[in-house]
Amino acid sequence: MERITVFDTTLRDGEQSPGCSMNVQEKLRLAHQLDRLGVDVIEAGFPIASEGDFAAVQAIAAVVRRPIIAGLARACTQDIERAWQALKSAARPRIHVFLATSDIHLQYKLKITRQQCLERARDSVRLAKSLCNDVEFSPEDATRTDPEFLFQILSAVVEAGATTLNIPDTVGYTMPAEFASLIQAIRQRVRGIENVTISAHCHNDLGLAVANSLAAIEAGVRQVECTINGIGERAGNASLEEIVMAMRVRPDHYAYDTGVVGEQLYPASQMLSEITGVPAQCVCSRSRHSPGWHAEESADLRDHDAAVSWGPRFEAGAWQTLRTSCARFALRATRISIRSARAG
Ligand SMILES: [Zn+2]
Repeated sequence: MERITVFDTTLRDGEQSPGCSMNVQEKLRLAHQLDRLGVDVIEAGFPIASEGDFAAVQAIAAVVRRPIIAGLARACTQDIERAWQALKSAARPRIHVFLATSDIHLQYKLKITRQQCLERARDSVRLAKSLCNDVEFSPEDATRTDPEFLFQILSAVVEAGATTLNIPDTVGYTMPAEFASLIQAIRQRVRGIENVTISAHCHNDLGLAVANSLAAIEAGVRQVECTINGIGERAGNASLEEIVMAMRVRPDHYAYDTGVVGEQLYPASQMLSEITGVPAQCVCSRSRHSPGWHAEESADLRDHDAAVSWGPRFEAGAWQTLRTSCARFALRATRISIRSARAG
């Protein structure tokens, strides 16, 4: 089975979710859990954003030694150098450079031309590469970027030394088939693409983050960016547990493997909700946003249905995790409903 790289951005994009900010100690605790969970890459933060972010990335880089530790940087010298300062003690550091490429962002946010954008992307990747061998580039708002310009900029950053090209659906705009076509076109049109890893980063504004990520995998993406409990900016990122479980439950459809340890999904989800106070979701429940009075009852039914349809293909440990996760989620959801009913 082909291996998919799981890039966890709970500590960076996830932390931008309302009510989800974490201090250095909390981030460090979660990073150790992500390590136990078996993710391949931990995006530990955005070092230039604050002293706290810098300290968290540095602390994680120093002690979490198995996974790649990534730090985010805008496409400018100051950001890239700051990211490198935070990351340089990591066993496996990665600088993640991003720059918006859609006309709407170029005109209204960055106020630069396409040519300036292309030069800035290429020069930034070149600088990052001079510091760190592992460089990821993200053309922000890729799904609303003119495809011809996107191919041009991606070809330029591959030539400058990028090793991963991440395609973000920044505003949660794309549709699964459309996103798959974009990935296929990138594979055909970007020079040197066969030497780099293509990645997907999807947002859930239309509830399609997981569907889009899975469509991208089928179209040739070999890294997915996701978060525990699907937390993230606005409606959230693609949920790590849902992507992983989709592949585990339906290997006939998604014949891909990850390094994720199924038994660690529930502890990771639980730890994050304990730290942030934001309730966890459950991979077999879609009721997380408005848990009802009968959540517990229906979770049992879902367990039953799921056991019938998934049972034979599901390894025992992950299945147990999922069942426990469902039951506990339902119980907590019921308590929340009771509390909110009393409150108002
Ligand atoms: Zn994002």
